[in-house]
Amino acid sequence: MSRVVLASGNKGKVREMNALLAPTGLEVLPQTQFGVAEAVEDGLTFVENALIKARNACRHTGLAAIADDSGLEIDALQGAPGIYSARFAGEGADDTQNWQKVLEELEGIPLAERGARFQCLLVYLRHAEDPTPVIAQGSWQGTILESPAGENGFGYDPIFFLPDQRCSAAQLAPELKNSLSHRGQALQRLLQLLSARS
Ligand code: IMP
Repeated sequence: MSRVVLASGNKGKVREMNALLAPTGLEVLPQTQFGVAEAVEDGLTFVENALIKARNACRHTGLAAIADDSGLEIDALQGAPGIYSARFAGEGADDTQNWQKVLEELEGIPLAERGARFQCLLVYLRHAEDPTPVIAQGSWQGTILESPAGENGFGYDPIFFLPDQRCSAAQLAPELKNSLSHRGQALQRLLQLLSARS
């Protein structure tokens, strides 16, 4: 097993990634286990921010690293909140404040014009100066509801409607969400790319 550090302390993400990457012989460990301080995410794109986080984790641990960056793109808001999804309603805003701000900004916009997608970028770096990162992307198409629905998930899930499932992301069982979501898709793609490379 070779060890790879995940540039996140999220236990759910570590568990999900370990289950998926086990066949590749990679063991995923959270960066919190190494006392890695969080990187300043000052990139202008998801991929830049994921690279910044992965490079920071490599530099502090001397190990290979995986990082992800994700967010919601809304067509009627020219792609906002995008890379600023976690703090759309301001620094320190919680999930409810963030989706409430989206609903306010979309007020009066008809359902047909409320297209949106979650994006997830995952990167794998062998070391801090790795010039050829492995990059995997997943996107998940939906529309923004006029009011929230559902109790599961996190972030913008209660206002993200999935036409194929006829419900919001917060109304999906967690396993189903993981298999359909932008993050699930990016993880599957990363697995394929890593398997092809090794
Ligand atoms: P992060 O890349 O995990 O930090 O996610 C950035 C932000 O995007 C989160 O704080 C959420 O607001 C939003 N986001 C990312 N993935 C999801 C999801 O699966 N459901 C709902 N919101 C999400």
